[in-house]
Amino acid sequence: MDYSKEVEGKRVHDHFNKNMTTLARCIWVPCPVIIGAGPSGLATAACLKERGIPSLILERADCIASLWKLKTYDRLRLHLPKQFCELPLMPFPANFPTYPTKKQFVAYLESYKNHFGLDPVFNKTVVSAEFDHRCGFWRINTLGLKQEETEYVCQWLIVATGENADEVVPQIEGMDDFGGPIIHTSSYKSGRLFRGKAVLVIGCGNSGMEVSLDLCNCNARPSLVVRDSVHVLPQEMLGRSTFGLSMWLLKWFPMRLVDRFLLLVSRFMLGDTEKFGIHRPQLGPLELKSRSGKTPVLDVGTLAKIKSGNIKVESKNFLCAN
Ligand SMILES: Cc1cc2nc3c(=O)[nH]c(=O)nc-3n(C[C@H](O)[C@H](O)[C@H](O)COP(=O)(O)OP(=O)(O)OC[C@H]3O[C@@H](n4cnc5c(N)ncnc54)[C@H](O)[C@@H]3O)c2cc1C
Repeated sequence: MDYSKEVEGKRVHDHFNKNMTTLARCIWVPCPVIIGAGPSGLATAACLKERGIPSLILERADCIASLWKLKTYDRLRLHLPKQFCELPLMPFPANFPTYPTKKQFVAYLESYKNHFGLDPVFNKTVVSAEFDHRCGFWRINTLGLKQEETEYVCQWLIVATGENADEVVPQIEGMDDFGGPIIHTSSYKSGRLFRGKAVLVIGCGNSGMEVSLDLCNCNARPSLVVRDSVHVLPQEMLGRSTFGLSMWLLKWFPMRLVDRFLLLVSRFMLGDTEKFGIHRPQLGPLELKSRSGKTPVLDVGTLAKIKSGNIKVESKNFLCAN
């Protein structure tokens, strides 16, 4: 950003600021700072720009949409229909399918960035952000690729660091003695590497379920570990996306009634998931999501493979140290 570089340049030549610049480079940013160049950060910057407000995006990766580009598997498509995932002010191209592929979604985000002329500062990891009450500004400390420190000072801060951006790898007892590879889904790309192998997939959220399906399609032998109860719903019901239908029904009916309806139709379409070792939570899918944030699994074909015995379900609770 030209103006911040300009201010930085002035500060470097300003004798009163010499002390500040010796420890960490300090940059005054006269506009909002956004942390994270994922879809949320880009959308925020575009909306601000639309109103004539510039912003500065700080991103720890070397690209936009790092979750989608670097940490997702090859077969991934949007789980929700495109109309629920498009960013403000710019729709998806009309020729995109209902569930765009990861490649299409990333291409859309790239053109979004270009369309709004967004220019994130890459390789800047925010390590702390504190509001300094004495001067009434945010102090945002970052580390660069070579661990160089930079402090950004601004009046407005927007955190758009995502809820899936950091992988959580539990320390499971016996892990260190296991001879084979152990990977997190954020590093998993395709089941082709596991052809013919027995693979244990721990966790039966949307990612675990889809990775199991991918392994199965690549002739590996996956077993899915289910520790907790989970709601599995068909991705579509009555010719509409389950998500879209739920949102529409919620306009007219209370959440509990919509939940009952979803469970009834799911039972009719998928059968009794309890029979396959997948227990449903006490609360309905929408109520559970609104109370705890736990997302229901939208089935993209995994359940059929479980029913046919191609994916085994293991009800286990591994001992985790963390
Ligand atoms: C397998 C999978 C499938 C999904 N399917 C869908 C779907 O169909 N529809 C949907 O709407 N959502 C889906 N999601 C949810 C996903 O979180 C969103 O699509 C979207 O990526 C959220 O955007 P975001 O900008 O909030 O967060 P993110 O995409 O996670 O972006 C956050 C950014 O902040 C950066 N960042 C984090 N910490 C720091 C730091 N300290 N300093 C600097 N930068 C930092 C990260 O590097 C990242 O680039 C899916 C997620 C996964 C994992």
